[in-house]
Amino acid sequence: MRKIWPIHGGVHPPFHKTESTSRSIGDAGIPPQLIVSMHQHAGAPAEPIVHPGDYVYKGQIIAQALKNRISANIHAPSSGIVAAIEERTLPHPSNLAGECIVIDTDHKDEWGKTAETGKLEAIPDYKNAEPDLLMERIQQTGIVGLGGAVFPTAVKMAGARQNPIKTFIINGAECEPYITCDDMLMRERSAEIVKGIQIVQHLVKPDECLIGIEDNKPEAIKTMSEACKNVPGIEVVAIPTIYPSGDIKQLIKILTGIEIPAGTRSVNSGILGQNIGTVYSIYQAVVEGKPVVSRITTVTGNGVQHPRNFEALIGSPFAWLAEQAGGYTKMAERLIMGGPMMGFALKDDAIPIVKATNCALFISSTSLHESNSSYSDQPTMPCIRCSKCMDACPVNLLPQQMYWHIRAKDMEKAQAHHLKDCIECGCCSYVCPSHIPLVDYYRFAKAEIRDQQEAQKKADLARERHEFLLYRKEREKREREAKRAAHKAALQKKKEAAARAKAQGQTTNTDKSDDDKADAIKAAVARAQAKKLARQQQNSADKHSTSDQTSTETAKE
Ligand code: SF4
Ligand code: SF4
Repeated sequence: MRKIWPIHGGVHPPFHKTESTSRSIGDAGIPPQLIVSMHQHAGAPAEPIVHPGDYVYKGQIIAQALKNRISANIHAPSSGIVAAIEERTLPHPSNLAGECIVIDTDHKDEWGKTAETGKLEAIPDYKNAEPDLLMERIQQTGIVGLGGAVFPTAVKMAGARQNPIKTFIINGAECEPYITCDDMLMRERSAEIVKGIQIVQHLVKPDECLIGIEDNKPEAIKTMSEACKNVPGIEVVAIPTIYPSGDIKQLIKILTGIEIPAGTRSVNSGILGQNIGTVYSIYQAVVEGKPVVSRITTVTGNGVQHPRNFEALIGSPFAWLAEQAGGYTKMAERLIMGGPMMGFALKDDAIPIVKATNCALFISSTSLHESNSSYSDQPTMPCIRCSKCMDACPVNLLPQQMYWHIRAKDMEKAQAHHLKDCIECGCCSYVCPSHIPLVDYYRFAKAEIRDQQEAQKKADLARERHEFLLYRKEREKREREAKRAAHKAALQKKKEAAARAKAQGQTTNTDKSDDDKADAIKAAVARAQAKKLARQQQNSADKHSTSDQTSTETAKE
């Protein structure tokens, strides 16, 4: 039997799992409008490639992952007309708005039939497929970590393929109260999950695959064990039920005894972790040629009539899901995306679900307070230094110390107490007798530090730009001066050369003019002599003529 390693701390809140597991996974159907967020994965938001008025088929890419960035494609969850691309409130703790593609559905739910409209060929023989083809398929289909981190799976797998992977851990712990989507997926689709695991095995060639499931899910353990019975290299491991065993670092510790050092990734320690829902998506992408257009979401809490798990289209409003679960009860006072420990409150039910939405918890304020004292309406009391928070922290932090430093706005000291290693599990808040919402302080401090770092980065960038501008001006000045000096030197050289040439040229010209003069004189003398000779000849001719005439006249007489 495999050794199970204990983790530090942890808590046992009321789990409330049975409410939503009495019925099989239902189909949430097609709402009249789907609001598809561009911000539903870690990294850069996707870029819309459709326009208002376009008809889109189910599965067609409507927003593309940014090139060379951590990002993921987004597909039309159903067919219809793009009604708008505009800002809508996002399911995020900030409740801020972000870019969404709004689709008016035509209720045909028609898949694209050509490559241009998103059709992908199924690859049932994945064991003989080229790994590059499978990796491309994972990228095309927009798969992200469905356990909550929503990190693009193609990027994670590419990292894993560059490291020797000893253990592939499939996270089926699902420790958060109320959430049962992975449990129901394992119960109902175990064969498909095993195929998804085999695809990852084919890609990263791990020595072993371990499926970790909390022992409060006996049916899931049974069905997964059945499905893995004749599959070599895959083992189902039942682990003790304790929150937060589903945090991947905790699960790695429980299954292998290995502690992933702070600030490093598990692949660097030879371990790859994927959520149950993620491997199921890998199966759908490869074997069925389907992108991520829907997910299993738990719709639960005493605020809905019939809590249940649904296969819900991405972009369906929370109100639509509540309707599918029989509508609201009188106790529907709060809406939480996720569970009561790590989830966050949403301000209205028109907000759409995203790939990360594992649970829509509609709940009364009283029940929420019971589940997590962070939501308690009891007044916060001073810290009594009981150290219960320290005992409960699975990461071995000093929650009360961090709290004091954050209250004093001394973020540096909070960081020195390893604030960044806090996984925001809420165990400390849960046990605090003074009802201090500790985890809210850590979230606030992390956001504050992120903002400060962002501002610092911007300031550094501006300073670097300014320094570079000065450097460039100085360099250009130096270059101009050097050019001017070179030009001056060239001119000087030219002048000197011209002077030298002139000096040589004058001598030559003087010689030349003397010769010319002599020639001219000679020519003039010659011309004068020729004229003189001509005159003499003329005179002599005139004389002969006169004597001849006289002789003639004398003879006539
Ligand atoms: S559990 Fe609450 S009261 Fe006790 S030490 Fe921690 S912060 Fe203080
Ligand atoms: S929220 Fe952070 S500090 Fe509190 S128990 Fe969890 S990991 Fe520890």
